[in-house]
Amino acid sequence: MSIPFIDLKTQYARVAGQVEQGLRAVLESGAFINGPDVTRLEKRLADYCGTRHAVGCASGTDALMMALMTLGVGRGDAVFCPPFTFMATAEVVALLGATPVFVDIDPVTYNIDPAALERAIRAVEAGDPKLYPLPKHEGALTPKAVIPVDLFGLLADYGAILKIAADHGLYVIEDAAQAFGATVETGGAARKACSFGQIACTSFFPAKPLGCYGDGGACFTDDDRLLELLHSVRVHGQGADKYQNVRLGITGRLDTMQAAILLAKMDIFDEELRLRQEVAARYKVLLARVPGLTLPEIPAGNVSVYAQYSIQAESTAHRAELLSRMGKAGVPTSIYYPVPLHLQPAYANLQYAAGTMPVSEAVAARIFSIPMHPYLKAEVQEEIAKAMME
Ligand SMILES: *Cc1c(COP(=O)(O)O)cnc(C)c1O
Repeated sequence: MSIPFIDLKTQYARVAGQVEQGLRAVLESGAFINGPDVTRLEKRLADYCGTRHAVGCASGTDALMMALMTLGVGRGDAVFCPPFTFMATAEVVALLGATPVFVDIDPVTYNIDPAALERAIRAVEAGDPKLYPLPKHEGALTPKAVIPVDLFGLLADYGAILKIAADHGLYVIEDAAQAFGATVETGGAARKACSFGQIACTSFFPAKPLGCYGDGGACFTDDDRLLELLHSVRVHGQGADKYQNVRLGITGRLDTMQAAILLAKMDIFDEELRLRQEVAARYKVLLARVPGLTLPEIPAGNVSVYAQYSIQAESTAHRAELLSRMGKAGVPTSIYYPVPLHLQPAYANLQYAAGTMPVSEAVAARIFSIPMHPYLKAEVQEEIAKAMME
């Protein structure tokens, strides 16, 4: 028997009827771009997340790109983000000519550390890398925005981040690519991922908690003016009509077929979230018996969607030993992320030295992820735990 890392086949068997019906309707309509399912999905996504608007787009990366373009981020702007994340978070910043300023993470949640964010903003304001490690840059940088990432499906600490950002006049762009459906209790109400900051972004890449069958993503906002700009940027900066271009934009549209697939998957999404909680609860009990592991810790009031179930070993050597044992037992594993972004060759021009983001570097040296999806059975989880101990 082979154990899948993420089981999309079992899920497909559940939604096949709805998906195929939705796809057939799109094929027959011929409305492959901006068909009625896109508008239907946008309404449903916004209602689900508790925002006024959602804008479907071609990927999570395009969602981030559109958010930054809409907020006018460009050359000379500093955009604060964690280095312990997927490439795209900082890539869009650099592609627009702005400068990613990396801010280390919290060792427990793996999300951006608000205290470090405050120090990094002050360092940029003062132009003083003694206050916090800064990237190399000719001339002064203007603090413009922060992109907190809800890593592995757990919301970042928005209570603290939104206050710091407001104090320093920064935009907040939530990177919720891994956290669609995550919640936090605030003032007695559960607030959902994709509802934080001026614009929030998510991804519907197949392996994400809510995935389509190709690439897809969405932006979320409560602001009517930003909605208008997002719509314009999504289609080459179009103005009042298609052949009037009032700004630069991209080809950021979401396919109607992907929207139809997502509508079908939304029907079972809340149930899948409940199943994910059960899988995580079982792992917590089973893996407590394996010595030397640091299991995910979810702060009170939060519900993680466990986009990944990520564990820390005691050391890099211990991780190698665990991965090798699991490999031999046929258990698929993965490392998110082996190299933090500040040490990636793509950002060499920023001249960050090793040791500047100590928490991200220590976590990258020890972390690994094991199979996680709503359809993971208790027996298989027992096998996985056994493989780790043998
Ligand atoms: C997946 C991901 C993205 C990019 O989404 P795509 O749809 O693959 O472009 C951005 N940020 C994070 C944190 C991600 O995990």
